[in-house]
Amino acid sequence: WAKANGRSGYMLFTREMQRAASYKMELESDLRRALECQELQLHYQPKVSLETGRIIGMEALLRWTNAVHGAVSPAKIIPIAEECGLIQVIGAWVIRTACREARLLQVRLGQPLRVSVNVSPRQFLQNDLVDVIAAALADSGLAPEHLEVEITEGVLMENTALALERLAQIRALGVSIAIDDFGTGFSSLSYITRFQIDTLKIDRSFIANVTESANDAAVAQAIIALARSLKVKVVAEGVETTGQLAFLREHCCDVAHGDLFGAPVPPALFSVQGFHFAAACSAADFAETFGQ
Ligand code: C2E
Ligand code: MG
Ligand code: MG
Ligand code: MG
Repeated sequence: WAKANGRSGYMLFTREMQRAASYKMELESDLRRALECQELQLHYQPKVSLETGRIIGMEALLRWTNAVHGAVSPAKIIPIAEECGLIQVIGAWVIRTACREARLLQVRLGQPLRVSVNVSPRQFLQNDLVDVIAAALADSGLAPEHLEVEITEGVLMENTALALERLAQIRALGVSIAIDDFGTGFSSLSYITRFQIDTLKIDRSFIANVTESANDAAVAQAIIALARSLKVKVVAEGVETTGQLAFLREHCCDVAHGDLFGAPVPPALFSVQGFHFAAACSAADFAETFGQ
């Protein structure tokens, strides 16, 4: 390829690669420093019971703001952290911080809020994960039933034996397990009957078009029905419109979160202002509740 395109083509190629590689190295070393420089933060997005309209908990989401890079998305941070071996220390920091801040929120707001923490595939397979969780619970005073760990289905498919062991250890602590981004993996459905899980989370990509796409609506409905028959909870993420909310209530989804209810915010800004859901899901009722 280099020969066919001549010398300049080859040079362009290597220069591009060099630029990408050095950008990655810079991100890596800055991420390494981010923890000590206190540039990492958790934001919390409220999770709402679709039955009562009450805020019952929140998902902890990692935020990194750096002078040079600005706000870096966790979708970018986590793969880098996994690759360069930082996931263990960042992941442990997330778990400790989420437990501590959730306990403080419970006390400040006087509510038994549950916090959901995302755990990456590599972090989930680490041997010390269970110790990290147990210590975070003990140090913070958060009750185990108020902590939920979110993992993606891929980790269960690819490392069945180890994943089974880890799941059992975490559940033995009294902590529950949610399958995040459910429906986006390439897994066979049979695995969920082999793993003891507590919650299925319908991926945002299905929720986004649930009112326009008959196919996405069918998938969302099927996941809700699957959760029902497995007797696990079902959560919808990325709810942005009253139409999506109406669909989810109509099909008896248990819990939802998304910008309609509130974007992720720093713990100091988190509140438990609930939502009034009318028994009949009329457009007028929603307009009154959400001002849309
Ligand atoms: P996720 O766990 O599926 O989290 C949901 C994502 O959807 C979050 O993106 C959230 O901010 C976003 N979201 C929620 N509601 C809405 C909405 O109504 N509209 C739109 N457009 N987006 C919405 P975020 O915070 O950028 O995180 C992206 C992903 O990064 C997460 O997806 C999760 O997989 C990962 N992640 C975030 N924090 C952590 C962490 O502390 N540890 C690990 N291992 N992964 C994390
Ligand atoms: Mg999640
Ligand atoms: Mg998710
Ligand atoms: Mg998702």
